[in-house]
Amino acid sequence: MQQHSQYLDELFAFINASPTAFHAAAAGAALLRDHGFQRLHEADAWGDLDPGAYFVVRNDASLIAFTLADSPRSGQPLRMAGAHTDSPGLKVKPNPLQVRQGCVQLGVEVYGGPLLAPWFDRDLSIAGRVSWRTGQGALQCSLIDFKRPVAVIPSLAIHLDREANSKRSIDKQIDLVPLLMQTPESSPPDFKTILQRQLGLQHPAAADAEILDFDLFLYDAQPLAQVGLNGEFITGARLDNLLSCHALLQGLASAKPRRNGLIVLNDHEEVGSVSTAGALGTFLNDMLQRLFPEPGVRQQVIAGSLFVSVDNAHAVHPNFVGKHDPEHLPQLNQGPVIKMNANQRYATNALTASLFRQFCQKAGSPCQQFVMRNDLACGSTIGPLTAAGIGVPTVDVGVPQLAMHSIRETAGSADGWHLLRALTTFFSETDEAIRCPQAAL
Ligand SMILES: [Zn+2]
Repeated sequence: MQQHSQYLDELFAFINASPTAFHAAAAGAALLRDHGFQRLHEADAWGDLDPGAYFVVRNDASLIAFTLADSPRSGQPLRMAGAHTDSPGLKVKPNPLQVRQGCVQLGVEVYGGPLLAPWFDRDLSIAGRVSWRTGQGALQCSLIDFKRPVAVIPSLAIHLDREANSKRSIDKQIDLVPLLMQTPESSPPDFKTILQRQLGLQHPAAADAEILDFDLFLYDAQPLAQVGLNGEFITGARLDNLLSCHALLQGLASAKPRRNGLIVLNDHEEVGSVSTAGALGTFLNDMLQRLFPEPGVRQQVIAGSLFVSVDNAHAVHPNFVGKHDPEHLPQLNQGPVIKMNANQRYATNALTASLFRQFCQKAGSPCQQFVMRNDLACGSTIGPLTAAGIGVPTVDVGVPQLAMHSIRETAGSADGWHLLRALTTFFSETDEAIRCPQAAL
């Protein structure tokens, strides 16, 4: 297995290359190909799959990868894990440009629930997916990424808002409109022409393309960093939840021996998961039906399997200790957190928690526990949706982090490594070691 420093280099490269869920799926596909995985397309017939390693992408932003050591017909269990590819942020509106006071500004919608204040005064770039028409009229789509800072949302000076430090609130429509460029004209340039130029730079074959539509997001152009006098922390955008996506991809790809395993990386978790590619969509179910077409065998597989739902957890913030339950205080660099909730906002139970605890122990990784205070609302993730959707025993876990949903989040530099080793152990385990025990009734 890799060393910790090599792991951090690869994690940073993965997240820096993944400014959007589209790019995360592409970076995931590249990592899988490097490990010999073969891409399948949902619209093709697959026939009988030989034992091997495969992946499927839906809507360019969600990905399922699986390894088969046995024929699917054997009914052996799957080591399953899931995470989400999307992060809260700002999405470019369909008709985005306006001119005010000589500045071209970019209209954006808020995607999910970001902390908005950290978006001000940052060097922002634009990335996403565009659809375009070739000279012959065929429809194509491509990922684009400006890669350099092209926009900024300046704060209002303290002198013009004396109460900014005590009473600031952010109007999403008025306050949150980035500056893109200056112009002497009174009407804005054509945004699609700007995109076409960028597309031509990245894809010379598309130089004469006509841009039709786009799914574009703003992102922080500052790359990830290791921070702290002794390098204890990592800071950067999208640690929630690309750190987990990377650990799933790497864990499945490097498991030894290769067993029956599956990972699902869903888009749209941050907006409720209801979409063709989200965890409440049909993606995972469709794949399981395709792999195990016989309902009895499929149910046999799922009943013996374990699903590890991986999404970052709230570490205790030293300035706000009172926001946590006093007996459940996950700390940075103390290992992945097992998340529990009496009301099933997390799908963990005593049995699935114990299984995950054993993988950590075997891997030499510490682990911690989290439960929300009774007087604060508990978040949720794809774990309960998947558990309810397919009926698989599930545990919700994730590395502890601070500043969740900020444009620049903070995590411990050791926790991703602890998580990866626990997941690699999980993907390498025997069928018996991943099965929930049953009470004698
Ligand atoms: Zn998350």
